[in-house]
Amino acid sequence: MNILLAQPRGFCAGVIRAIDIVEQALRLYGAPVYVYHEIVHNPHVVKDLERKGAIFVNELEAIPAGGVTIFSAHGVSKRIEQTSKAMGHLNIDATCPLVAKVHAQAERFVAQGYHLVLIGHAGHDEVIGTIGRVDAPVSLVGCVSDVYELPFTEFDPVAYVTQTTLSLNDTLEIIMALKKRYPKLLGPELEGICYATQNRQHALKALTKQVEAVVVVGGKNSSNSARLVEVALKQGVRAVLVERAEDLDPNWVKGVERLGVTAGASTPETLLTQVLEQIQENCGPQQIQITQTPGEQESTVFKLPSQLSALSQ
Ligand code: SF4
Repeated sequence: MNILLAQPRGFCAGVIRAIDIVEQALRLYGAPVYVYHEIVHNPHVVKDLERKGAIFVNELEAIPAGGVTIFSAHGVSKRIEQTSKAMGHLNIDATCPLVAKVHAQAERFVAQGYHLVLIGHAGHDEVIGTIGRVDAPVSLVGCVSDVYELPFTEFDPVAYVTQTTLSLNDTLEIIMALKKRYPKLLGPELEGICYATQNRQHALKALTKQVEAVVVVGGKNSSNSARLVEVALKQGVRAVLVERAEDLDPNWVKGVERLGVTAGASTPETLLTQVLEQIQENCGPQQIQITQTPGEQESTVFKLPSQLSALSQ
């Protein structure tokens, strides 16, 4: 079996920064530190940080007064931030700077008097956070048909922002429908779908031309991992999402001669390596050949919050 690894894949700069923030906070303040929601959508990452002394909570009430409180890479609403502060917690913000840019853009549109449309998936932490950053109603649009349900006329001022981890194709279709309905529609100054999501989707799309099937390694609740599965399926290549090596059904890859493997932006490379080892084990004496495909080399690095950056120098 030939295995082709997508490039780039796995950890993005926002995820590396978020994990780093928890580890540096543990070093600076000692255990426990509290993390509001999963720091990134990967259970392996969460368990690893739990072992080091992080406590993950879904309610601020679970954090004692004075507790070091880290907000996840997906961002939180203003209400959560303010309530946490009022409860006496020491807030540290691990919101990815690219999500924070979407927040700032959303706030600018609302301040300028636009009705804000957010393209994204209902219930996702990032979407909840972005809606909670603005002091005005936000219309959430998840597909083209939602565009036709919007209550605004073509003369109303309408602007949109997007979740950072969407499918490039689907989002483009939604934006086109919005533009058709609202010819004066305003969009963000900077691309809303982040560089890491774009790079991983482009790399996988190219890879699908060379393989029969694709394994995506990623958390079940990871939006960008789910989008990678969709990219492959849309290209007519069967694809499966696995969280860990044990999740991969040996029959699923049986008989595949050219297999593509990639990983979502919150997936550690160790999990991908374990999946490769599992495939080798399933193949028995038959050798697998692993090829790294050429692709975009990412060099983006995000600084830590000032509360912690001095420590890392
Ligand atoms: Fe930031 Fe994009 Fe990574 Fe999300 S996927 S943490 S937006 S870089």
